Amino acid sequence: MALIVFFIYNKAMTNPLEMIEQEMRDLEARLTELQRAYYLDSRSLVSDQQYDKLFDRLSHLEELYPQFKAPDSPTQRVGSDLNSDFPEFRHTIPVLSLDKAYSAQTVLDWFSKAQAKFSNNLSFVLEEKIDGISMVLYYEKGLLMHAVTRGNGIIGNEVTQNIKTMPSIPLRLNEPIDLVARGEVYLGKADFERLNSEKGEDEAYANPRNLAAGAVRRQKSSETARIPLSMFVYEGFWDGMESTDHIAILSRLKALGLPTNPHIAYFSLNASLSRQRLDEAGLNEMKALGFSDIEQYIREKTEQRKALPYEIDGLVAKVNEIRVREELGYTEHHPRWAIAYKFEAPQAETVVQSIEIQVGRTGRVTPVARVQKANVGGADIQRITLHNQQYINELELAIGDTVSISRRGDVIPAVESVTEKNNLGNTTYQMPKSCPFCGSGLVKIGAHHFCPNTQCKERVKQKLIFFCDRSQMDIEGLSTKTIEDLIKLGLIKDVPDIYTCDFKALLSVGGYGERSVSLLEKAVEKSRQNPYVKVLSSLGLPEIGKKAASTLIKGGFKDIDSLLEAASSNAIEKVTAIDQMGEKTARSLFDSLNSPQMRQLIDELRNQGLHFSEEEKQSDLEQIFSGQAWCITGSLDSFSSRELAEAEIEKRGGKAVSSVSSRTSVLLAGKNAGSKLDKASELGVKIVSEKEFLDLIGMDAASPIEPDLF
Ligand SMILES: [Zn+2]
Repeated sequence: MALIVFFIYNKAMTNPLEMIEQEMRDLEARLTELQRAYYLDSRSLVSDQQYDKLFDRLSHLEELYPQFKAPDSPTQRVGSDLNSDFPEFRHTIPVLSLDKAYSAQTVLDWFSKAQAKFSNNLSFVLEEKIDGISMVLYYEKGLLMHAVTRGNGIIGNEVTQNIKTMPSIPLRLNEPIDLVARGEVYLGKADFERLNSEKGEDEAYANPRNLAAGAVRRQKSSETARIPLSMFVYEGFWDGMESTDHIAILSRLKALGLPTNPHIAYFSLNASLSRQRLDEAGLNEMKALGFSDIEQYIREKTEQRKALPYEIDGLVAKVNEIRVREELGYTEHHPRWAIAYKFEAPQAETVVQSIEIQVGRTGRVTPVARVQKANVGGADIQRITLHNQQYINELELAIGDTVSISRRGDVIPAVESVTEKNNLGNTTYQMPKSCPFCGSGLVKIGAHHFCPNTQCKERVKQKLIFFCDRSQMDIEGLSTKTIEDLIKLGLIKDVPDIYTCDFKALLSVGGYGERSVSLLEKAVEKSRQNPYVKVLSSLGLPEIGKKAASTLIKGGFKDIDSLLEAASSNAIEKVTAIDQMGEKTARSLFDSLNSPQMRQLIDELRNQGLHFSEEEKQSDLEQIFSGQAWCITGSLDSFSSRELAEAEIEKRGGKAVSSVSSRTSVLLAGKNAGSKLDKASELGVKIVSEKEFLDLIGMDAASPIEPDLF
């Protein structure tokens, strides 16, 4: 009797749960159907409100009954606001890179060699090399369980929650099989332009690949969901694989619901044989061509690539037959049965030998790659900034990796991508936990790490270097080397010590003579006369360079006291009222001005007699040449002597120099300019004509300037 009662009781309790589970399954099916129609066919089957209602109901039930949540639940498409880290994942397939060719001829030679070796008894495919992020998808019994970055080819990072937000990637395959698929995640050009135009200049990404790499590694998958990423899958591995060729693999991947690229060409003995094979495989959208068409196809594809809605950086040629692939085999790093044709040769390839840590005057920690010396566009490159941990993560860069490097804007060396993983077992570089100079624990603010110790000897040294720099207080002779020596001798511990220190002590160190010490003393004395604008911009206040310092002064802050007072009373509006001064700048300026260290620095420098107010007699001309070194050559029409032109430069904050060097900012070239003009163009020094100079200083060429007669 008791047993029967228990049975009835228990049954009554499970019923509602079963009903809930059933409701969840129904909601999943309906939402998956609606999402497919919306994302893949751009059709809305129901109103937004109806969709949201169903979606919210399922999310609610999943929260209450997590035990019933399906691994392929459609709620995962919008991502989550929870932070996720990216655990390491050991690949179960080899994630190899391809051998590269930088000319069409090399690729054609590769084709010919393979054709000859197998007596034309093989075929090829040519795929677009999508400029994106390599990704490996792991399905178990048809369910997407892991999405993993390439990493070092053996171990990658799991970014599953983020990849699950991508509408084109099935959470469940059309068959319950175990399968590993490899492909490329990318962002379309139009979406890139739109997203990037919403960003400030500092945050803008260099190209769609960088933005996609960042999106894949967002900590909150809800943020990844907002970026319309796509993927093409191009390789697949599964148990009991019977495919005899690549065409069959692609056909299977497509049938399972995975996104494959339709812009692929297939080459066999002739076009009609190719067509036959593609039709058999149900891949009618692919191009069917003969061996004799290879060269022309490569040429066409290279020309047409700009018109594609996504970026490709080359083509990938693969042998089609699996048996031929097996026969050709692998080198240590690459399969012999495929080759990547890169449209443009990278500017250089080199190896990352080590990664060094730099600490700046604000405490900001910057990782810098030391690479094997490589020449890019005529310049030898050995050190390349890696900005921060996020940048390194996006590149998946490890010590020992071979990298492709360029010079951004033809100047700043940059690592573009990892072209070959190291075989030393090194994984993606991680920033140290503590400052290598003072041992303080690093703190992370935004994307950057900082040494928080204001007494950190490296920070102090960088502060001194910045203060003495020729574009700041311009103290000639106080070079990095001299500053290091002075610190070593214990003569200088902070910036104000420059004005109290006895430089004669340097005579005890090799490399300094009476003359150099006396020049140094003179340079320090001279710097006491620097105008307020220079002093203000040399304090190292965040975001206050020369231009901002001059804007502040012109905006009414004629002395440091008015600025300190505004900071004390947190009168942000007094700063933001000035044109070009934003709230963010104002806040960080005030934070810095209110810190005891900054107050002390200002007091001590003021005691040394430095200028902390704008002097009336000073030129009220806009200091447009501030910090620039100008050299004049040739004859000038509008100035009766070169000195008069120099005076115009100096009145506007510039400095006149007599010879051209790499430190020269501008060469003013008059008529019949000679060797200085050649040297300037050789060194890349900016060259300005007399007409342009007159425009800059707002003078009229029609009225020659005569010297004042007393
Ligand atoms: Zn430190």
